[in-house]
Amino acid sequence: MANRKFIVGNWKMNGLRSALGDIGGIAKIAEQNSGVDVAICPPATLIASAAAEFPDVAIGAQDCHQASSGAHTGCLSSDMIKEAGASLSILGHSERRADQHETDADVKAKAEAVRSAGLGAIICVGETEEERDAGSAVSVVCGQLSGSFPEGADGDWLTIAYEPVWAIGTGRVPEASDVEEMHAAIRSKLGELMADGSENVRILYGGSMNGGNAAELLAVPNVDGGLVGGASLSAEKFGPIIEAAA
Ligand code: PGA
Repeated sequence: MANRKFIVGNWKMNGLRSALGDIGGIAKIAEQNSGVDVAICPPATLIASAAAEFPDVAIGAQDCHQASSGAHTGCLSSDMIKEAGASLSILGHSERRADQHETDADVKAKAEAVRSAGLGAIICVGETEEERDAGSAVSVVCGQLSGSFPEGADGDWLTIAYEPVWAIGTGRVPEASDVEEMHAAIRSKLGELMADGSENVRILYGGSMNGGNAAELLAVPNVDGGLVGGASLSAEKFGPIIEAAA
């Protein structure tokens, strides 16, 4: 049976308190499309107020430290994001892999930390343009997936997001056939990594998804939803993507 679609907004470093109204607008559209799972991952500073004001939409974090507490200036633990009201966290986004030098091992440990707090994890993987041009996209992505793959993986809490780095924020989207090939490769790798239940792990596509291309991308086999950056920042832009998944 096909998985329920999962549409996740990654707000990145965007949004002051004045943006809470946008989360309210998105929550309303999510409520009207109850066949789709929707989550919004605002900056950490908005998690508590968004979760308190809009309890009917899932609120997520964009990162989480692997340690439960300690001398890690500027970081947040899984218990902290959970207490603030997050029910999941994006992990290993390519911007963090590049800017904060996060390794596969870090991402695996972070996923295990959010799992132990009872939260969901969205692990991001994706190749650079150079890697795609070199013909190594599938091996790079499957390598990231294996290296980042947590113990105890289960579709109840784990989601994978395939985000080609060259498609993020660029307006460039891979051909549907390339998305299909990559999602099939990820599905097959999940089958190798998990004793059972690999078909229940949702695989999202991310990278310049918008209201104009969402329906086509979401119809690709093994695309179980989308991880959306720029087009998730308002109900006007995000709404059509949620509706395309319904
Ligand atoms: P984009 O970002 O939709 O703005 O390309 C997606 C992401 O980085 O998660």
